[in-house]
Amino acid sequence: MSKRDYYEVLGVDQNASVDEVKKAYRKLARKYHPDVNKEADATEKFKEVKDAYDTLSDPQKKAHYDQFGHTDPNQGFGGGAGDFGGGFGDIFDMFFGGGGRRNPNAPRQGADLQYTMTLDFKEAVFGKDTEIEIPREETCQTCTGSGAKPGTKPETCSHCGGDGQLNVEQNTPFGRVVNRRVCHHCDGTGKFIKNKCSTCGGKGKVRKRKKISVKVPAGIDHGQQLRVSGQGEAGVNGGPAGDLYVVFNVKPHEFFDRDGDDIYCEMPLTFAQVALGDEIEVPTLNGKVKLKIPAGTQTGTNFRLRGKGVPNVHGRGQGDQHVKVRVVTPKNLTEKEKDMIREFAQMSGGQPDEQNDGFFAKVRRAFKGD
Ligand SMILES: [Zn+2]
Ligand SMILES: [Zn+2]
Repeated sequence: MSKRDYYEVLGVDQNASVDEVKKAYRKLARKYHPDVNKEADATEKFKEVKDAYDTLSDPQKKAHYDQFGHTDPNQGFGGGAGDFGGGFGDIFDMFFGGGGRRNPNAPRQGADLQYTMTLDFKEAVFGKDTEIEIPREETCQTCTGSGAKPGTKPETCSHCGGDGQLNVEQNTPFGRVVNRRVCHHCDGTGKFIKNKCSTCGGKGKVRKRKKISVKVPAGIDHGQQLRVSGQGEAGVNGGPAGDLYVVFNVKPHEFFDRDGDDIYCEMPLTFAQVALGDEIEVPTLNGKVKLKIPAGTQTGTNFRLRGKGVPNVHGRGQGDQHVKVRVVTPKNLTEKEKDMIREFAQMSGGQPDEQNDGFFAKVRRAFKGD
């Protein structure tokens, strides 16, 4: 596609002053701004106008253009006409003041809501079906959201013509600037309601406590959240409702710790149990299971109970339970018990079993300074 002559685009001649170029550009930019002009080629035209302005308003670029005509914008002068990636917002704000422009009658999605649900440890592990009650804004049933008394309709706000915004003109050192402000006659809705709906007072929405069923999935963890689609605040102008986010606060358990899908616990055992071996019962999330403790088990030893952890919340299997052995040193011994232990100590030489644990050898070497 061959490019149109920049002077032609802006409708100015080669001797036009920078002010004249600027004036022509402002007029055309307003005309073709994509937020204003809904014609199919408005964006193209707007871009063309901006390219022309970028070049003709810069004396250096203008001189280059006058001499060489259209060239690759990336050659000769850096970027310039090529860097149009910033969108229209900035240019728009330049003319109309901050905030851009939003059609007040366009459908908008309702706000998202957040609800914190506290769960017992096992409720999080197994999941549950429950019902929560949340206060939220819903479309008023009396007026179906219009805010007008049944049988009547909201009228277009006469102050802003339905735009929801007003032009406020100001004279500044840079010329007359037009700012857009929210229309205070209609609070930006663009509508005027003569006969307000008595149920909602013209808001079109009512605040209600709504009961919502929530299916807590098995395996949910502390801090995770669940999205309940379409259960947030009602939308505006027929837009969809927002979503409800349920955030889980899981209470700790007095015996089990949880890390992801794995469960951790500690089992206190007597010296006799670990020395001689035993079969013990260990509590799990699904009741007791038997665990064989081999003779000579050390304190701190971990046993893994496969598949006795938490079901994965995404349905990917099940975690394990880790059982850590803690040998409990007896207290408050009777004289007879003490005698027996002394006897045992004499028989075993009064030192930890070297073969059983090289750790004590390391301790001895450390004392010797090796
Ligand atoms: Zn208004
Ligand atoms: Zn109503």
